[in-house]
Amino acid sequence: MSSAYPEDTITAIATAPGQAGIGVVRVSGPFSSQIAVAMLGFCPEPRVATYSSFLTTSGEVLDQGLALFFAGPRSFTGEDVLELQGHGGPVVLDMVLSRVLELGARMAEPGEFTKRAFLNDKLDLTQAEAISDLISSSTRQAASGAMRSLQGSFSVHVNDLISNVTKLRVYVEAAIDFPEEEVNFLADDSINTQLRKIIGDIQHLIKESNTGRLLSVGASVVLLGKPNAGKSSLMNRLTASEASIVTSMPGTTRDTVEQQLHLDGIPLQITDTAGIRDSVDEIEAEGVRRALAASDRADLAIIVVDASLPKPALDLQELSGLTDIPTIVVYNKMDLVDDLSLPPEALAVSAINGFGFDSLTAVIKQKIGVETPVESGFTSRRRHVTALKEALNAAMKGREEFESSHSGELLAEELRECQISLGQISGEFTADDLLGEIFSSFCIGK
Ligand code: GDP
Repeated sequence: MSSAYPEDTITAIATAPGQAGIGVVRVSGPFSSQIAVAMLGFCPEPRVATYSSFLTTSGEVLDQGLALFFAGPRSFTGEDVLELQGHGGPVVLDMVLSRVLELGARMAEPGEFTKRAFLNDKLDLTQAEAISDLISSSTRQAASGAMRSLQGSFSVHVNDLISNVTKLRVYVEAAIDFPEEEVNFLADDSINTQLRKIIGDIQHLIKESNTGRLLSVGASVVLLGKPNAGKSSLMNRLTASEASIVTSMPGTTRDTVEQQLHLDGIPLQITDTAGIRDSVDEIEAEGVRRALAASDRADLAIIVVDASLPKPALDLQELSGLTDIPTIVVYNKMDLVDDLSLPPEALAVSAINGFGFDSLTAVIKQKIGVETPVESGFTSRRRHVTALKEALNAAMKGREEFESSHSGELLAEELRECQISLGQISGEFTADDLLGEIFSSFCIGK
């Protein structure tokens, strides 16, 4: 059996903490069968659920349950895997785990089982990520999308693209290698046709991936505005909860408060920020700093203005740094105002009585790019969209250079870049630190 970690056996409790009917300790690596022999007295026949006692060194029974052995490479990780399915109590599971550790396994790091599956070519990177997304899904749409990604829906598109880019690259490089024929080769319209198709396919996949990303991780929305404008009240009405303290003292929301809600199956993380204003108060300044940092990563900023103030006009200068993020300007407290001409595109609402909230939720959906009903073949992540955009830039740059100079070399180089960016999605060309980052966000035991 070939394995990325030949001498290392890992273990973890694979079920959630707490009390349950069943609890599973999972073991993966070359000692799995020896551990089975030491704990059960035998190694179960591969793939046959076998009832057994789980024993200490002196033969005392720790627990009883089912033991399952999977001989590599026909296992989740691609290595020998042992699963001990005992009773789901934290103490008894801990005793079983300690025994496995005593027998030479070490504690698995977060996501390490899945990482081994990836390194042993059981899954590509988008499928590994889909496992984590499936587990953390907060809506049915997200769970179905993650399942489709796990089954390879997203990978199929990416692999098709990689194969088309590779084909074109080979074609162009062949033209470069046979200079006497290069002119004919490159004058051929087939290069343009293939490039057009690749660019169109990447653009289409970016759109689908964006929806897939919204489905899995959701959109992040920040509320910005001066203290007392009604940000907390607006968030509370949106989330129908009492997440942040609503008071009439300016600047009580010193830190950011996050709430999740679902709009048509799309999870939204709404961050209520500290009031944006010049402040001498250290804690308040930290709040403003965090507000701006949070808005940098946001998909949408909702700027809340107190419409009841004599001069509610918004000083957009104060909200610098927001230019790239789609923005909604909301005039709140309209219940206190008789007649106010709003700037174009501003929305009139009242967080107290709910006036204008139907329009507000409709505009939120439109601004984050949610098509209703939400349909995407798969879930995806921001890093996928970023890699697709890099691939698109390379393909477009290649086309421009080819059109202006008819140089095969420049086009071939951009196609190579395009291929590398696409390869990062499936994990074909992925730096170790990125792998570390991806798998460390998994839960232990996965
Ligand atoms: P924040 O500092 O921007 O988070 O503002 P808050 O949500 O704490 O609201 C400040 C004050 O304005 C509180 O006394 C709220 O009850 C009040 N308020 C918020 N929204 C409305 C509204 O739509 N109408 C009225 N009349 N009062 C509001």
